[in-house]
Amino acid sequence: MKVPFLDLKAQYLTIKEEIGEALQKVLDTTAFAGGPFVAEFEKSFAPYCQADQAIGVGNGTDALWVALIGLGIGKDDEVITAVNTFIATAEAISYCGAKPVFVDVETDTFNLDPAQIEAAITPKTKAIIPVHLYGQMANMQPILDIAKKHGLFVIEDASQAHGAEYNGKRAGSLGDAGCFSFYPGKNLGAYGEAGAVVSNNAKAVDIMRMFRDHGQKQKYYHGMVGWNARMDGFQGAVLSVKLKHLPAWTEARRAHAKKYNELLANVSGVTLAKEQSWAKHVYHIYPIFVEKRDELMKYLGEKGIATGIHYPIPLHLQEAYQELGYKAGQFPIAEHLAARQVSLPMFAELTDEQIEYIVSEIKQFMA
Ligand SMILES: *Cc1c(COP(=O)(O)O)cnc(C)c1O
Repeated sequence: MKVPFLDLKAQYLTIKEEIGEALQKVLDTTAFAGGPFVAEFEKSFAPYCQADQAIGVGNGTDALWVALIGLGIGKDDEVITAVNTFIATAEAISYCGAKPVFVDVETDTFNLDPAQIEAAITPKTKAIIPVHLYGQMANMQPILDIAKKHGLFVIEDASQAHGAEYNGKRAGSLGDAGCFSFYPGKNLGAYGEAGAVVSNNAKAVDIMRMFRDHGQKQKYYHGMVGWNARMDGFQGAVLSVKLKHLPAWTEARRAHAKKYNELLANVSGVTLAKEQSWAKHVYHIYPIFVEKRDELMKYLGEKGIATGIHYPIPLHLQEAYQELGYKAGQFPIAEHLAARQVSLPMFAELTDEQIEYIVSEIKQFMA
């Protein structure tokens, strides 16, 4: 049996007609860059996230960068984030002129460890970016408390957590800004590149809207040096269609995770992720942890099962960030996880038969 890591085609086929009609409308009105289809998506995505406003941008990396700029973060500032994340989180910090400061993650959530944040705060610290890795939110209350005590902004990197919840509150709505990627493989994926920032901070939203559109509110009247970080019309139209299906797709992912959890519960040598009592996990990634990770991936590959690693090298050990001066061994939890993590196939259209096959092959390998 062949099991892809992700099957974008299977999902497209379930919404083919709606997508065709939505794209045709964009063609008929030629609203290609920004415009009404992006505005319409923003109007539905903000309430979905329980936030006041959404700002559509070019991709998730733009979203993080635009949020940092909107909150006034720049040169000589420091921003704390999890060392175990996709590099975009740190790139956005670097590209607004600030310095990324890494903190290790918790063993059970793989997210920013609130207990280690205060040791990383200096007089230059301006913000904390928790990353809701794999679709489960970081432990937000202690993070928000620390931020409040030290006068810091909180920007959520919710690129893997569309619709995830923390004690009933949606990802993106708890901090000063929440950033989303709609990269095609994300839980809510565009048919191209797209992203969004959500926020309840009216002043910051104003700056973000200007910044993403060349610093202008009125065409050719530039109030600030901005950038072109607009979402395009086709992506707005696709995302509006797909957002209506997202709750059902999320429930399908959660059901698949439950099945994986049940079948893998007693397999010795396999460590699973745990959904926390305060969390609604949306399973962007279904991770397991094993000692012989590379051998397991090779074995599963030979059996037609595609897997991934998220992520093989924590940011402090990336060549790109050597200038920050971190050393191997400095973030032991992230390093431990990076050496053992495997992502199993996870997408709404995955079938029970596929999950049973994957688990039977994992058991075969472990035995
Ligand atoms: C995907 C992702 C991003 C970047 O999003 P792009 O749309 O690819 O720019 C940022 N942070 C995290 C955690 C991500 O998973």
